Amino acid sequence: MPHVVEQASTGRAKCRGCGVAIAKGTWRIGEAVPNMFADGENAEARHWYHPRCAAYRRPDAFLQALEGADAPVDDRAALVAEAQAGLAHHRLPRLDKAERAASGRASCRHCRTPIVKGAWRFTLTFWEDGRFMPAGYLHPACVAGYAETTDGVLARVRHFTPDLSDEDAAAIDVAIAEGAANPLPPGTGAD
Ligand SMILES: [Zn+2]
Ligand SMILES: [Zn+2]
Repeated sequence: MPHVVEQASTGRAKCRGCGVAIAKGTWRIGEAVPNMFADGENAEARHWYHPRCAAYRRPDAFLQALEGADAPVDDRAALVAEAQAGLAHHRLPRLDKAERAASGRASCRHCRTPIVKGAWRFTLTFWEDGRFMPAGYLHPACVAGYAETTDGVLARVRHFTPDLSDEDAAAIDVAIAEGAANPLPPGTGAD
């Protein structure tokens, strides 16, 4: 079953990337994923995404779905570039939301030092066994060392954190840039 791009025939499917329903008539990406609980003709399921959410989170499926399809998806060329960036830097698709640390107990996945309570952090997700799993946190300043690029990082995180204010986004952008100027080395056990 190939990955597809098509116009949503109903408005019922929720995007796996952002959790928001995909409006009827708008373009959506359908990723074919193995269904481990079935065989035969039900051995695959389809996961739906907004095009931008797929470009960020499932770049391989996004690019395959668009290959040879002339679907006039909004911002198609820019989204293709984002997906290609996600393939070139394989940790980029793990970036999720920005939030303030609710406690000081979690350590950064890159530098392995604790993230201070109340400080900004990025949540990470890993794609495992056909679904997204929470995979810890990252200092915004550690993105440069972790993802090996800072291009488009803030736009990605803002996409998945729609309620982030411009002021908070600006503060996070400063931290990302500071980390790029002075990258911290990975701590023991970082991945
Ligand atoms: Zn979405
Ligand atoms: Zn860190």
